[in-house]
Amino acid sequence: MFDEASGLYINGRVYAGQSEVVWENLNPATNRPLGQIVWASCEDIDQAVSAAKQAFRSWSQVGSLERARVLNKAAALLRKYKEELALLEVQDCGKPLSEALSFDIDSAAGTLEYFAAVAASIEGATIPVQGALAYTRLEPLGVCAGIGAWNYPLQIACWKSAPALVCGNTVVFKPSEHTPTTAFLLARIFTRAGLPDGVFNVIQGGAEAGGYLAEHPDVAKVSLTGSVTTGKKILQAAARTLKPVTLELGGKSPLIIFDDADMHEAVKGAMMANFYTQGEVCSNGTRVFIQKKIMPEFLIELEKQLSSIRVGSPLEPDTNIGALISAEHLAKVQAHVEQACKQGATCWHGGEVLCPAGAENGNFIEPAVLTDCHDDMDVVQSEVFGPVMSVLTFESEQEVIGRANKTDYGLAAGVFTCDIKRAHRVAHQIEAGTCWINNYNITPLGLPFGGFKQSGLGYENARAAFHAHTRSKSIYVELQQVESAF
Ligand code: NAD
Repeated sequence: MFDEASGLYINGRVYAGQSEVVWENLNPATNRPLGQIVWASCEDIDQAVSAAKQAFRSWSQVGSLERARVLNKAAALLRKYKEELALLEVQDCGKPLSEALSFDIDSAAGTLEYFAAVAASIEGATIPVQGALAYTRLEPLGVCAGIGAWNYPLQIACWKSAPALVCGNTVVFKPSEHTPTTAFLLARIFTRAGLPDGVFNVIQGGAEAGGYLAEHPDVAKVSLTGSVTTGKKILQAAARTLKPVTLELGGKSPLIIFDDADMHEAVKGAMMANFYTQGEVCSNGTRVFIQKKIMPEFLIELEKQLSSIRVGSPLEPDTNIGALISAEHLAKVQAHVEQACKQGATCWHGGEVLCPAGAENGNFIEPAVLTDCHDDMDVVQSEVFGPVMSVLTFESEQEVIGRANKTDYGLAAGVFTCDIKRAHRVAHQIEAGTCWINNYNITPLGLPFGGFKQSGLGYENARAAFHAHTRSKSIYVELQQVESAF
């Protein structure tokens, strides 16, 4: 199926970019080149936007059931080519193949299926007004730009495109420069599923291409998954044409474990909250607050569960931690650990750079657990985006809520306790877009996902995504005579 695995995809056709920049795409597990990609020039991006604008005229008029049918067909193709797609995803982003097979491709397909299932319920409201008929229509916005990060490339492309498409918009998507492949393949799959040409387009490039898209006068909306720094730049670029923006940004989320928690479960939660996908997850609970008197018990259980970690070549079936996205990112993660130790933390576990058999030149690090942390250390304040858990202790509920909220971020949080009243009480006071009780990093599509404070603007998934991809028009129909003042 995938004879060409990467490039630009505009108006139903594969293109080579026309810019001067040739990007060498590296496999993070080997640092060997996977191929070269010529990035999109401004003219290429104009062409993609123009194709999307043209296609909007007819796609916006297609019924929601027909749109849903296309998404369902595309989901079936994603599932059909799951092994191939998972392998290509792993080569681009370094995560374990077992993870891509058990999560990434299914999650991408599930996103298309979810929005196909709810497509027919995109509806306005009738408003009671005496002597008149008043109602609202949710109308599509036009061309929506999506800009992705590299940790869940295919899932992000689906989170951004599925709600946009079922609402009747067309899309120009730019994946991260580190992971150019699966969004391109998604475009080809959409075409095979019957999506008309120009409705979903993919351009390749970096910050410049993303900025150009965000500023483009014919782009009606921009949605980014990325860092806070990029989010602020996109907001500024979009302000020039006053376009709506959805920002899914970084985090430094707290995970609070109370002394009555089921310790085995809580440590499972802490492991998932820090080490899944090599710790490259925006919502990770990297500030793990343990109620002081259970700290020894927590460390004993953590040691037990850490022994099942296998860092290694992503292709090995028993690997459950793969390679970080790039050598630069590995160096950054390592520097965070070193600096934390200089500031008084103890590296209780891991933190060493590894050269696993069969992947000696890749970007591997043994997951690190830092103890003796305090709130004002850089590692406790900054997003590391790697497998580094900072452990902190607390005495009381009110104290830990105050400390958990002492951050500019507000993406997610977790609470482990068997006290149902305390669980909800704490969750209600945490300043975060999602709070998990007795689990972590679960994102069902029916729950809105978005950040508070500097972790973002707006929501993805659920019905909230309809509001992010439509505008409401109010219609007033007079049923009586015009009352004139003249
Ligand atoms: P990044 O901000 O460097 O890049 C994200 C995307 O934005 C890339 O496609 C990049 O090319 C593009 N970009 C960079 N500068 C730009 C600019 N000035 N204008 C327009 N586009 C620009 O982030 P990253 O390194 O790819 O991803 C890691 C970050 O993403 C972390 O902070 C992580 O928390 C965040 N993230 C958030 C979520 C979420 O849902 N909240 C999910 C995944 C990742």
